[in-house]
Amino acid sequence: MSHLLEFRPEGMYCAAADVYIDPWRKVHKALITHAHADHARWGQRHYIAQEHNEHVMRARLGKDISLQTVAYGEALHINGVRFSWHPAGHIPGSAQIRVEHKGEVWVASGDYKVENDGLSPAFEPIACHTFITECTFGMPIYRWEPQALRFEEINQWWTEAAATGKNCVLFGYSLGKAQRLLSGLNPSIGPIFVHPSIAQMNDALAAVGFQLPATLPLSSYNRSVHGTGAMVLAPPGAAEGSWQKKLEPYTDATASGWVQVRGNRRRQSLDRGFVISDHADYPGLLQAISATGAEKVICTHGFTALFSRQLREMGIAAQEERTLFMGEGGADAQEEEA
Ligand SMILES: [Zn+2]
Ligand SMILES: [Zn+2]
Repeated sequence: MSHLLEFRPEGMYCAAADVYIDPWRKVHKALITHAHADHARWGQRHYIAQEHNEHVMRARLGKDISLQTVAYGEALHINGVRFSWHPAGHIPGSAQIRVEHKGEVWVASGDYKVENDGLSPAFEPIACHTFITECTFGMPIYRWEPQALRFEEINQWWTEAAATGKNCVLFGYSLGKAQRLLSGLNPSIGPIFVHPSIAQMNDALAAVGFQLPATLPLSSYNRSVHGTGAMVLAPPGAAEGSWQKKLEPYTDATASGWVQVRGNRRRQSLDRGFVISDHADYPGLLQAISATGAEKVICTHGFTALFSRQLREMGIAAQEERTLFMGEGGADAQEEEA
């Protein structure tokens, strides 16, 4: 059995093409599944990513990075190895990377979810021999309901707050979650304000064609002009900032897959929690894996031991590989984006 991709200290490596996928150490050529910090790390000599990441990656990693972009489905040949990027449905610009060499096909899926969120191109199952999967929520307790139900709850929460003279503060990771929340909000309820880090990502995505509802900068909020009943989107990292003072009285909430089971550390002091994840739930992982027809599955970040054992009991050759996606503060970052 050949190893088209192998796990090295630097990251996932394709020896035949001499390139890495989502490397966590500095390398000469990095193929990127998506722009979250644990996958697109700072300091790579050259990046190759799906074209929707053009402005997002420059905003996060530096405008002068060496970045080559490809369209979904476009083939890129390196030393006779064929690479292509396919929708992962995780966040705008997210991709699974398909690797084909001498008739063998591997797919490195990065992070993904199978529910079509209406914003990111929907997850596309890719037939392959070996599938590398995340399993952030790889336990049977994690099951998501359709996002439409969650958005009804969020808009209801906002409507009630507005009716009782309060603002809403909703926390969601600046890239991906924030835009998904934004696209599910009902702008007829009130004005929507966004934290600068979310505004920056909105602009970077609007520049490549993503259509998002109109928002106002958080700094422009003025009680005497806007009154109450405003919705404010901010990243979890900005919580407990001095900016929250001028929004009082407000009710606050977070949106994350972790809300379903354990009280998110940051959630404990918040009024509400909405179960909305940008990662596949347990049935979603199984559905995605079976759709690939893969005979071998490699489980990376998340509940790798439990989930790979579950796959083996189902007759799939599954193994775990360690990545740095869950180390060095990665767990925290992942919690925020989940
Ligand atoms: Zn991600
Ligand atoms: Zn990740």
